[in-house]
Amino acid sequence: MVKWQGRQGSSNIEDRRGQGGGLGGGFGRGSSPLGGGGFRLPTGRSGGGLGGIVIIVIFIGIAMAFGINPLSILTGDTSSNVPFQQTLPPQNANQDELANFVGVMVKDTEDYWGEYFRTQGETYTAPRVVLFSGQTQSGCGVAETSSGPFYCPNDSKVYIDLAFYDQLHRQFGAPGDFAQAYVIAHEVGHHVQNLIGVLPEFNQARQTMTQEQANRASVRVELQADCFAGAWAREEFERGLLESGDLQEAMNAANQIGDDRLTGGRIPPSQFTHGTSEQRMEWFKRGYDSADPTRCDTSNV
Ligand SMILES: [Zn+2]
Repeated sequence: MVKWQGRQGSSNIEDRRGQGGGLGGGFGRGSSPLGGGGFRLPTGRSGGGLGGIVIIVIFIGIAMAFGINPLSILTGDTSSNVPFQQTLPPQNANQDELANFVGVMVKDTEDYWGEYFRTQGETYTAPRVVLFSGQTQSGCGVAETSSGPFYCPNDSKVYIDLAFYDQLHRQFGAPGDFAQAYVIAHEVGHHVQNLIGVLPEFNQARQTMTQEQANRASVRVELQADCFAGAWAREEFERGLLESGDLQEAMNAANQIGDDRLTGGRIPPSQFTHGTSEQRMEWFKRGYDSADPTRCDTSNV
């Protein structure tokens, strides 16, 4: 258990829980954050064989990641998307506590990156973190529970439905509060990438890339976000906030959400967008061991 109780939370939390709906439907792919350049934690479960049509859809820039229900998202098949959402549990009884936990972890990332940017002579502008239930509007399209947590560079916000944490525990086999913290730190890592120019460069470059090249570039971006999360986790340790088992929870999460693990070997590595379990653990650990974000250069991956 990371020590968070009684500590100050972030003032950058935007709590939109209980405001779901009101968006006039539209589960289609056009409104998915995937289509709007969002950067998601890879929480995909495989949807089975990826056919030619999906490849085409990927080509129009949708598949930054394999979503929780990738085929339904990628093909705009609402009929399989909606029932999946309905299988999610209703709001947790302890969601408010979870929201407080997220607030404290976000604050810790603000402290860490704020200090790091200062040492570089720069100023860190923290992202806002939107808690929602069901769906909400984002600068990258409609955010849905099934989208999984993601970062939207267009509005510099992280979006997360806290129900995801149930799924992380039960479906992906990654329990523990520091696994949850890792998810936040990874998305905040994407925000840092946005600030330092990595994301803008990637979004520009991928327009002229083949799909395979874009996938490889995506893996480099994702592994760097993992490495940034690791560097932040090390700071938590240095501050005496971690207890035994916390680091393992984060490493286990990185392991469980590797592309190879999530897809069960059903897609070739050339279609990976986030990296294998081994890579994800390796880069998280690299950030942790070095405690230095400049060691998170993934350009040779
Ligand atoms: Zn990511």
